[in-house]
Amino acid sequence: MGRVLIIGAGGVGGVVATKCAEVPEVFSEVVLASRTIEKCERIRSRIVRPIEIAEVDADDVHQLVDLVEEVSADLIVNAALPYQDLTIMEACLATGVDYLDTANYEPRDEAKFCYRRQWDYHSRFQERGIMALLGCGFDPGVTNAFCAHASKHVFDEIDGIDILDCNGGVHRHPFATNFNPEINIREVTAPGRYYQDGRWIEVDPLSVSKTFDFPGIGVREVRLLYHEELESLAKNIPNVGRLRFWMTFSDEYLTHLRVLQNVGMTRIDPIIYEGRQVVPLMFLKALLPDPAGLGEGYQGKTCIGCLIDGKIDGDAKRYFIYNICDHAEAYQEASAQAVHYTTGVPAMIGAMLISTGVWRREGVFNVEELDPDPLMELLPKFGLPWTGEFMD
Ligand code: NDP
Repeated sequence: MGRVLIIGAGGVGGVVATKCAEVPEVFSEVVLASRTIEKCERIRSRIVRPIEIAEVDADDVHQLVDLVEEVSADLIVNAALPYQDLTIMEACLATGVDYLDTANYEPRDEAKFCYRRQWDYHSRFQERGIMALLGCGFDPGVTNAFCAHASKHVFDEIDGIDILDCNGGVHRHPFATNFNPEINIREVTAPGRYYQDGRWIEVDPLSVSKTFDFPGIGVREVRLLYHEELESLAKNIPNVGRLRFWMTFSDEYLTHLRVLQNVGMTRIDPIIYEGRQVVPLMFLKALLPDPAGLGEGYQGKTCIGCLIDGKIDGDAKRYFIYNICDHAEAYQEASAQAVHYTTGVPAMIGAMLISTGVWRREGVFNVEELDPDPLMELLPKFGLPWTGEFMD
């Protein structure tokens, strides 16, 4: 039985809190803390089991340490933004509690994420006898476990992995992002990058495309982008030759994005407006729909999976392992659209596997470094069924 402290009361944090509250035999207490207490209150009012809430600025290590001690947390689930990863990890070291997040650290002033800054904490976490589990959402998270599962149970050797992320859903806004707009737009406007035979190859943002027939959705165009799990998979999947990440975008989304970029609204450097510093992308975020509010009326499905090429007994095989999630069903169950649902459920399961000792180790780890079996077994039980099938 553990006390879990969830930081961040956005779309992902709401799902993590809802799902943690479903397993009182694992999480004896659930505390949800965020910068805006009203958002915590709103989420609490939707959850049947009583949970505690608190206000915290997660950029401030002292505030975090005081909160962890006040609520006697055993584990922190970081559902805030990538900017807070390092301050929360520092607070874990100061208080001796375990850590889990769904997105890797990124400095505010540079749209560049990499695991190095968090991997550098490995020996300090080991010495403190605590665990950090990085990137335990869907992608990264379940996609990493899919690769570990294929490596353990399906293939003798893996040659190449294409992670394919399709949101086939339709919401009622002309332009909205499915998770935090600032983080999403920083990600998709960055140069694309993929791994080939030991080298990283960079391409212009969203310039490479192909089509893929997504089960449950149909044929969609996908575009290549750099995604954080490529970095850890390149390190942890032995001898993998090729790693790429692909995502679907609607024409509406791409048109809006192009215009916003052309007029400078996606810039992350401050400009002076009427004597005040304004970061255009942060201003844009304030105007865009809150992704946590997209769920109502959202129709359609997501399909996220790994298309894996490898060898079995010397024969070349192709295998697709994926989940399909329905926006409306996710909303009915957890008041969230599918992108938040598919992120929050694995975060809760990861927290559960750490709290029960099944996954617990000392140091800093990515999901594919742990035994995938317990996660793969629990995913369908908590709403994320998966399918693995060979393709011609
Ligand atoms: P939201 O913007 O909806 O939620 C973020 C929450 O964090 C908000 O409640 C925000 O508070 C809070 N927060 C921000 N800064 C602070 C701070 N300094 N102190 C305390 N709280 C703070 O984002 P999402 O829920 O859409 O995304 C959350 C995370 O999940 C992101 O890092 C995103 O990259 C990641 N993600 C991971 C995925 C995966 O599959 N691995 C997929 C989708 C998202 P406030 O309301 O006051 O702004």
